[in-house]
Formats: sequence, C-alpha cells, structure tokens
Amino acid sequence: MNIMVWFFVVGVPMLSVQPKGKQKGCAGCNRKIKDRYLLKALDKYWHEDCLKCACCDCRLGEVGSTLYTKANLILCRRDYLRLFGTTGNCAACSKLIPAFEMVMRARDNVYHLDCFACQLCNQRFCVGDKFFLKNNMILCQMDYEEGQLNGSFESQVQ
Ligand SMILES: [Zn+2]
Ligand SMILES: [Zn+2]
Ligand SMILES: [Zn+2]
Ligand SMILES: [Zn+2]
Repeated sequence: MNIMVWFFVVGVPMLSVQPKGKQKGCAGCNRKIKDRYLLKALDKYWHEDCLKCACCDCRLGEVGSTLYTKANLILCRRDYLRLFGTTGNCAACSKLIPAFEMVMRARDNVYHLDCFACQLCNQRFCVGDKFFLKNNMILCQMDYEEGQLNGSFESQVQ
C-alpha cells in the first residue's frame, strides 16, 4: 500500500478578522455575524461568543489563538490535554509522543517526525512524497520496489 506523506498538527489556528463584503453566517448559532470582528477557524466563521470549548464553555477567542479539535469536539488547550493527554506511542521508537507535537500518521500508526524515515535506507520524506507500508515497516519507493522484485516481502508473515 502506498500513502502520501502528510504532517498533522493538532492545534487549529484561529484568526480574528474584520468582515469584508457579504455578511457571514456563524457556524455556531447559524445567525448572521454583524459584529465588528469575527473569528475564523476550521474554515468557518464564528461570533466571538459562539466559539466555545465543548467542555468548560470558555470563550476560545480569549484564551489564545489556537483551538483543538478531536472527534468533532472543539476544545480549549487545557481540556484537550486533560482528555487526550498524549498523541500515542511512536510506532518506530515506541516512545510517547506529547499531545502538541507534530506527528506523522500512517494507517493507525503515529510517528515522531524525526522517526519517520525509510527503515531500510533512512531516507526522510517530505509532504507529498510517496511512502509504502509493508509488514509495518516504512519504506521509500525504491526499497519497496526492490523488495517486490526479489520477492523478499512475500516470504514474510503479513
Ligand atoms: Zn454565533
Ligand atoms: Zn475548556
Ligand atoms: Zn519515535
Ligand atoms: Zn529506502
């Protein structure tokens, strides 16, 4: 299987913008936003009062410029940490990945950015590069194709 490389950031940046042109609808209450400033987050617009943490109801526009989202919940940093703590264990080095670190994902595996490299030749990947996951090993295209050619994968347990 081949997967495109993509880096995941946990926090979603939030912008306070002055509305231009047509009035925008608020993603929280569905009413038009007539305020002087509105918040833009997750590609949607919000009243400053409507963008709230699903857990503690605090106004996220005041907490800082980042919100966190998981399982369709919008959360403040504190609740995100409390609920989800860490991102998981790195599939390459098995050490914990702190909740706010950028990670690489491949299927159900997460990796430290530093650990995400071809496990045969150590080639690092960039966004948009193709990589292959075989027998739970990360492989670059060259090593993958070579392995296919000489059949070394087929002898291993899938
Ligand atoms: Zn609203
Ligand atoms: Zn909260
Ligand atoms: Zn790691
Ligand atoms: Zn390689």
